[in-house]
Amino acid sequence: MGVEAYDEPLRRAQRHAMRWLDHVDRGEVVPRADVEAVAARIPAQVPEGPTPAADVVDLLAEVTRGGLTAMPSGRFFGFVIGGSQPAALAADWLVSAWDQNAALRFATPATAAVEEAAGRWLLQLLGLPDGSDVGFVTGATTANFVALAAARSAVLARAGWDVEERGLTGAPRVHVLVGAERHDTVDLALRYLGLGRPVAVAADDQGRLDPAALEHALDAVPAGAPLVVVLQAGNVHSGAFDPFARAVPAVHARGGWVHVDGAFGLWAAAAQRLRPLMAGAADADSWATDAHKTLNVPYDSGVVVVRDRAALRAAMSMHGSYLVPDVTGVGDPHDKVPELSRRARGVPVWAALTALGRSGVDALVDRLAARAHQLAEALRDEPGVEVLNDVPFTQVCLAFGDDDRTRAVTRHVLAEGAVWLSGSTWRGRAVLRASVSNWSTTPEDVDAAVSAVRRAVAALP
Ligand SMILES: *Cc1c(COP(=O)(O)O)cnc(C)c1O
Repeated sequence: MGVEAYDEPLRRAQRHAMRWLDHVDRGEVVPRADVEAVAARIPAQVPEGPTPAADVVDLLAEVTRGGLTAMPSGRFFGFVIGGSQPAALAADWLVSAWDQNAALRFATPATAAVEEAAGRWLLQLLGLPDGSDVGFVTGATTANFVALAAARSAVLARAGWDVEERGLTGAPRVHVLVGAERHDTVDLALRYLGLGRPVAVAADDQGRLDPAALEHALDAVPAGAPLVVVLQAGNVHSGAFDPFARAVPAVHARGGWVHVDGAFGLWAAAAQRLRPLMAGAADADSWATDAHKTLNVPYDSGVVVVRDRAALRAAMSMHGSYLVPDVTGVGDPHDKVPELSRRARGVPVWAALTALGRSGVDALVDRLAARAHQLAEALRDEPGVEVLNDVPFTQVCLAFGDDDRTRAVTRHVLAEGAVWLSGSTWRGRAVLRASVSNWSTTPEDVDAAVSAVRRAVAALP
């Protein structure tokens, strides 16, 4: 089969992609078909025979019609979701076409070099220690898992226990402290690692870990016991940052490991105006972030950074007699992540960073926070609207009187479909959240969100 076999399927994919991106730009944000409606277009039985590749592409566009959410839209403010910068999307297509199993430097030199450059640039942009290891993973959940696996290895080694060799059975207890408002994926990562439920340290009214409460909790940990503390850069409700400058030295004074979950907030360090939010965070031991959120590369793309390279490799590396390991001392991509076979996820990151440059990343992060501020200020004096958070970064949390009214506003906004904001519960109250995470969100898109909220408030009984 010749190379021509790819031509028509790829052309059709590009045509459908452009149609979709046009819809993202101008159409409704919410999907109009639900799972059942889409499923009804798909035969229950496996097809008996083949379908030409180009027709498969058309068929896919046809069955999914109306069931896609315009998540990459500038009017999507739900969860914490980025869009796709053009350079990153195109690079992601190339990664698929190249189809490299990017595990080994020897076997896939080009992607290894590009990913190593992307990792180096990320350290420079995020102000993290030169020489740290960078792993490209699927998201911040996995990044948290990888970093905490390295942490587990290091703090147990300090207590004379080789967890890679002996496992956890009979090991000294690892004390894990987290902020009361850490992201739930931190608990999930700890569960994967057999570390159980962490001790939650009190947070203030913005969701920031209270440093006095941390010191109190640290006093309850036996001297010399294995200790891991997870801090947060960017609370999903308030956007708040933990007090790193006080917390990190307090943990280090007790020989503990500090991990920072900065899935979207770590990027504050790349913007001159917002960098103070990250003060002291670079003194931690490991960091997790996403590229599919603030940097706006396509899903799925997360980044783990670990200062202690030996700890990371102890936790993640493996050897197979048929593999050809790197002998230069740099180490193979697979040594830093859970997977052996892997997609070259760092390549779209490289493309996004090249397209933006340092000034462009600064401007992107600055702009996202500025648009969140715009949204909060436009609604702050509106009768019946409460802005619940300080809005230091990209997140805005709103309430509209009692919980029933807040939920009614959320339903009204989503039913209209002009913009997407998501509901949640924060500090015991129903809230409407807005997360400005899309590179293409304009001031007019924010105005559209403000108008949608105003219409929903006006429609309340
Ligand atoms: C989104 C998020 C995560 C989880 O990241 P995924 O990319 O969904 O795996 C973890 N922590 C925080 C603070 C987040 O915002």
